[in-house]
Amino acid sequence: MLYQCHIFCDFDGTISGHDIGWEMFQRFGEQEPWNAQMIAGIISASEYWQKMAQELTQPITQELLDAFLQTIPIDSGFQPLLAVASEHSIPFTIVSDGFDIYIHRFLELHGIRGVDVFCNHAELTAEGGMTVSFPHATEGCDCLTATCKRNVVLGLAHPDARIIYVGDGISDHCPAEHADIVFAKGKLAAWCNANRIPHYPFSRLEDVAQQLSKILERRRLRPRHQAVLQRKAAWERE
Ligand SMILES: [Mg+2]
Ligand SMILES: [Zn+2]
Repeated sequence: MLYQCHIFCDFDGTISGHDIGWEMFQRFGEQEPWNAQMIAGIISASEYWQKMAQELTQPITQELLDAFLQTIPIDSGFQPLLAVASEHSIPFTIVSDGFDIYIHRFLELHGIRGVDVFCNHAELTAEGGMTVSFPHATEGCDCLTATCKRNVVLGLAHPDARIIYVGDGISDHCPAEHADIVFAKGKLAAWCNANRIPHYPFSRLEDVAQQLSKILERRRLRPRHQAVLQRKAAWERE
C-alpha cells in the first residue's frame, strides 16, 4: 500500500456487546460511592478501579468469571473488521481502559487469537479477590482514564501513519481527538458532534468494516488537519 494506516479499537461496548468492566463490578462488587467520587474529581480513575477491586462484595473465581463472560455477546462485525485490516495489511490494536483478565478470555471464548491488546492488568487472588495495576499509565493527560488511550495510540502508531479510531465511550474522547478517521457510536458520537470532530457514526462493527473498505479502496487517506496539530502538541508536551 502507498501509505500507512493503523486501526485502534476500543473493547468494552464496541467489540463486546456490553461494557464488561462496568458489569463485572456490578455483578461482583459495588460501584458507589467511587464512581460519583471519580466523576466529581475527588479520586482518579485508577483509584476508582483500585477501590472497587479491593472491596468486592462477592468472591470471584475463574469459573464464575467465565460463566459471566458467556452471557455477553460479541459484535458479529468484529471478525469482518479484522479481515478488512488484514486484507489491507493494516495493523490493528485494541486499546482499552478495562482489564486483561476479561478481554483476553472473552476473545479466546470467541475463537479470536493474535490481536494486540493494550489495557490495564487484573489478577484474581486465591481468596476470591482481585488486584489491579496499570502498566501503560503515563503522565501528561488529565482525561478520566487510568490509562490514557491517546498516549498508547501515539506511542504505537508510526509518526506518518493515518490513525483510524473506533469507539463508543468517554475513554475514547482523547484518542479520537488525535485520530484522522473516527468511527463513533454512543457517548463518543455525541461528544464528537458537540466538539465538531468529523466522524462516521456506526451501530455495528459490520458498518465500520463496510465503510472502511470503501474508504480504503476509493482513495488515499488524507490526514485530518486538527488531529495533526493535536498530535504535534501532544508529542511536544511529552
Ligand atoms: Mg467502550
Ligand atoms: Zn487522555
